Amino acid sequence: MDDNTPVYSSRIAKIYVEFLKRKYPSIDTDYILEYAGIPTYALHDQGYRFSQNQANLLQEILVKETGNPDISREAGRYAASSEAFGVLKQYLLGLITPNAMYLLMEKAYATMSKGAVVKTRQIGPQEVEITCRPEPGINERPHQCENRMGMFESVGKFFTRNQAKVKHLSCYHKGDKECRYIISWEKTPTYIWRLIRNYSFLLFLLALLGVILRFQVVPLAILGLSSLLFAAFASYFCLYLENKELHKTIQNQGDAAKRLYEEMNIRYNNAMLIQEIGQATSSIMGIHELPKTVLQLMEKRLDFDRGMIMLANREKTRLLFSGGYGYVREQEDILRETEFHLDRPQSKGVFVVAFRDQKPFLVNDIMNNAKNLSERSLEFAKQLEAHSFICVPIVYEKETLGILAVDNVTTKRPLTQSDLSLLLGVASQTALNMVQTTSFQKLQESEEKYRDLVENANSIILRRDTDGIITFINEFAQKFFGYPEDEIIGKNIKGTILPDTEATVEYLKGLMKELERNPAEQLVLERENRRRNGESVWIAWTFRPIFDSSGHLSEILSIGNDVTELKRAEQEKKDLEAQLVGAQKMEAVGTLAGGIAHDFNNILQAIFGYTQILMLGKDENHPDYKKLAAIENSAQKASELTKRLLIFSRKVESQLRPVDLNHDVLQVSTMLERTIPKMIEIRLDLAEDLSIVKADSVQLEQIMMNLGVNARDAMPTGGRLSFETRNVYLDDHFCSLNVGSIPGEYVLLSVSDTGQGMEKEVEEHIFEPFFTTKELGKGTGLGLAMVYGIVKNHGGYIACDSEPGRGTTFNIYLPVVEEEASREERSKIELPIGRGEESILLVDDEESIVEVGRELLESYGYAVMTASDGESALEVYSKKYNQIDLVILDLSMPVMGGQQCLEGILKIEPEAKVIIASGYAVAGNTRDSFEHSAKGFISKPYNVSEILKTVREVLDS
Ligand code: ADP
Ligand code: MG
Repeated sequence: MDDNTPVYSSRIAKIYVEFLKRKYPSIDTDYILEYAGIPTYALHDQGYRFSQNQANLLQEILVKETGNPDISREAGRYAASSEAFGVLKQYLLGLITPNAMYLLMEKAYATMSKGAVVKTRQIGPQEVEITCRPEPGINERPHQCENRMGMFESVGKFFTRNQAKVKHLSCYHKGDKECRYIISWEKTPTYIWRLIRNYSFLLFLLALLGVILRFQVVPLAILGLSSLLFAAFASYFCLYLENKELHKTIQNQGDAAKRLYEEMNIRYNNAMLIQEIGQATSSIMGIHELPKTVLQLMEKRLDFDRGMIMLANREKTRLLFSGGYGYVREQEDILRETEFHLDRPQSKGVFVVAFRDQKPFLVNDIMNNAKNLSERSLEFAKQLEAHSFICVPIVYEKETLGILAVDNVTTKRPLTQSDLSLLLGVASQTALNMVQTTSFQKLQESEEKYRDLVENANSIILRRDTDGIITFINEFAQKFFGYPEDEIIGKNIKGTILPDTEATVEYLKGLMKELERNPAEQLVLERENRRRNGESVWIAWTFRPIFDSSGHLSEILSIGNDVTELKRAEQEKKDLEAQLVGAQKMEAVGTLAGGIAHDFNNILQAIFGYTQILMLGKDENHPDYKKLAAIENSAQKASELTKRLLIFSRKVESQLRPVDLNHDVLQVSTMLERTIPKMIEIRLDLAEDLSIVKADSVQLEQIMMNLGVNARDAMPTGGRLSFETRNVYLDDHFCSLNVGSIPGEYVLLSVSDTGQGMEKEVEEHIFEPFFTTKELGKGTGLGLAMVYGIVKNHGGYIACDSEPGRGTTFNIYLPVVEEEASREERSKIELPIGRGEESILLVDDEESIVEVGRELLESYGYAVMTASDGESALEVYSKKYNQIDLVILDLSMPVMGGQQCLEGILKIEPEAKVIIASGYAVAGNTRDSFEHSAKGFISKPYNVSEILKTVREVLDS
């Protein structure tokens, strides 16, 4: 604190002014105040305080003008009756007794002055001690001590007729450490009269007693009456006085209540205003609405004629009118049109200075304060007809945003420091709200921007916690995966966009580890995901870990892009390359195998032929016979293999004829039904209007038998084998993806099983000759090679589709004969071979062949007898030759060979009908040697059409 600190309440100045007006009416109080630098409005402003320096000036001019050096003491004595004491007086009076009043001087004094601290202490029934010490830094003057004493004196008058007595025991201004006053006051009139009343009763009683003892009745009556009268008067007067005091108090209380109410009302309005401005922010969204709301509230709550807010433009070069109340239209236009430049340092306009220097202005009676205002401001005030105004800057943390101004047109009341303080409060609340609103708006805008970005991004944006629970998913991702938001938020990624498998668990574990290890790096990887409909999609993911405030990995932000097409194209390219390599390899292998097989077969034919020549004329008793038979048998088996190789390498001609594929499928399925285990179900799905293909029925059946047998091997515990036929068109797209296929009309034969399927590595090699996964002796690896060769020979295309554990499908596409030719060709199709009822003896040492043959023939109506070698065949034949219509005889059998057996049969019945079955094409010399004795030839393994056809032909010959 120093002598410039505002410490003294404007009420003190007001007491002086009132005192002067009463005692020295000729003195110009405005001049006195101006001299002391106290604005006139301060008298109405309880919030205003003046400094020690101002107090000194005031004393100086007062003494000078009145010529009364005791002026301060006298003014102090006036305090109790002054209006300036105001509310404070009522407050003190409310206490009723003088003691309480003086004791509370401690608090009351503080509202008047912050320049000194007062302490009070009761020392007698009508006596208190008051000490007073000026605050450090405040150079109090002796006249202030005088003034204080005057005030203490005056307070006594509230209750008694006279002022209180003040004894000044020690004085700060005389070098003591503090001022010490003893205040005593006289008893109140009520108090005295109450005593009189009480004593008079006592007197009366004593007198009554004396009179009774000494006098007669009459004087007794006179005395009694007069004493009674007096006592009654004393009581009445006592009551009257009490009433009077009470009346005075009540009146004072009433005034005080009124003033208190007014003050409360103002404070309430002010508090409400600030609160309402605060509340406004939460509901106001636009920065433009805010000044208007503030002004509306000011108009409602405050007592100014007009108010307005001007805000700086974005560049802070101009102040722009943003709203106001109380102005007529033309005035508002003036406000709107007047340019307030903020970027001109020489500008002295009130608004501009208030804005630039962050300085508030309070000007009462503008015209008389002209010297303090710039010319332009004056001109402006004139235009607006302003009489007094306050202008405060709207400041937020050192940055000025605009100004707030109010003014009064009429002089209804001077503007005060309290008004200024309140407006400063309003302005700072407004500033705060403006900044909040702006930052809220900015936040909202940026949030909207990002939301927009996230929602409309053509990328998957997803957040999930460390357990995999999805916490956010953008619209694009919802559509992409096929989940509406409420059906995926809160769900785990496992079981939704990732399959719920062990592999997924492993993958997620690895991912978390990676993210924790390298949190700074973005993790990018491609992953197969799943749509809601089960469709698989490839997504290129970018993962970013999100850490909580304590540094723990809490969530993972995943951004993904659909790369399914890309992946597919890549895969297709790879597939095509592999197909091409595969096709070339097959071609090469085919050429190689074909070349060898052809020569090899010739060699085998030679071995076979010479062996047979050697065997001619030797019976089984001949020492070489068994060995020769073994050579013959082996050669035959070798020849069978080479024959398949030849088919693969397409060295065997196909006899293409118009064929109804459905018919062949039916025949093969009948045969398969009898040979493969019952736990395998055979299902047919044949197109009704299937186109005609040009094919070699025998070879088609070979294809189906091979595929059927493979399917059987793939389903050791049973399953389903399906044959399906369909007309299809292979388009350019299909052909571009499948090397070796040519666009056009095809008949599709699909052979599928539900067996164990194949791994990719196996699938790549299945058509290669000698490729087998089956154990030694079980598979030759030639089955599919043969199928491949046959399909190629037919100008067709074969594809395999297999999945481990699920099964395998072979698709064989056979070209359709041209439309026109088709109808014609259809008529040429051989009708199904007729059935028969004849008896047939089937001779073969291979049990399976015997079984297949028997099933087949029996299903066509024939009665079948069997024999597993030449000897037993002869035995059967010799017994039942007249019942046996036909013998099917395997040429190479151990013990007694086919040839010997044939001779035996012919011996019994020279006209016997015998068909020779052979594992290789019976040709050349061999065929010749049987030409005269056998009626027909069929090749092994049995081909349904061939066997039935030959059987019928021979029987009917
Ligand atoms: P083989 O049957 O003598 O092994 P194939 O050429 O018929 O020779 O078949 C080659 C290989 O292809 C088989 O060993 C097997 O691994 C695989 N294979 C063929 N067909 C199927 C099928 N339907 N299911 C599973 N694997 C098959
Ligand atoms: Mg096979």
